Amino acid sequence: MCRNHYQQWRLSTPKDQRPPARPGASRLSIDERFWQRVQKGGSDECWPWLGAHGGYGHGMFWFSAERKRESAHAIALELATGIRRPAGMYCCHRCDNPPCCNPAHLYYGTPRQNGADMVGRARNPRGVGKHNALLSEAQVVEIRTRYFAGETAAALAAEFGIRPGHLSNITRGRMWKYAGGPVGIKRVPKLSQAQRAEMRARRAAGASAKELAAVYGISPSYARNLTRRAA
Ligand SMILES: [Zn+2]
Ligand SMILES: [Zn+2]
Repeated sequence: MCRNHYQQWRLSTPKDQRPPARPGASRLSIDERFWQRVQKGGSDECWPWLGAHGGYGHGMFWFSAERKRESAHAIALELATGIRRPAGMYCCHRCDNPPCCNPAHLYYGTPRQNGADMVGRARNPRGVGKHNALLSEAQVVEIRTRYFAGETAAALAAEFGIRPGHLSNITRGRMWKYAGGPVGIKRVPKLSQAQRAEMRARRAAGASAKELAAVYGISPSYARNLTRRAA
């Protein structure tokens, strides 16, 4: 019996008439099945979908026999909020990263909002001043290439109008993976005494280790170590 027929049978047979489940056979809930296919990260990072993809780079998730395949990001928002996407509305990405399933990056919008996003993307691709600029795939490749050729995260983030954390999402391949270009973690640069002192001062002034890591092109744990030693 294939999965479709099994689901048909299961739904058309009252629970007390179904044979008991095989001992040891675990049936995962929708929640469990869904989130095991999401690469969760920090609350402000993108959480890429690891399962199958449909059109426009969106993830696809087999929800149930009645609902069938649906966009993974819409299910992420539904499971996180308990509110199903209202008919006629879209589940939109604030981060402009189609596979992202971080509920904090998603919202239900009208077709007009969705269209306005696309117009904004074409007219003002760098979206300077926005929380997260909307980037084209070509710009993503440009950022990665220049970053790994030696330019600093801080300079690139400023030029493209994005936050350093967003830039590290891009260079580490957490978002826009399919756009291409080099991804990974840059070789740890040698920090001068002056840079270390500057870093400690910024940490003391309230910058988080994560922010400093993005600015100086090092890992958050290394940034934490360097600034802790001074304290
Ligand atoms: Zn995202
Ligand atoms: Zn989308």
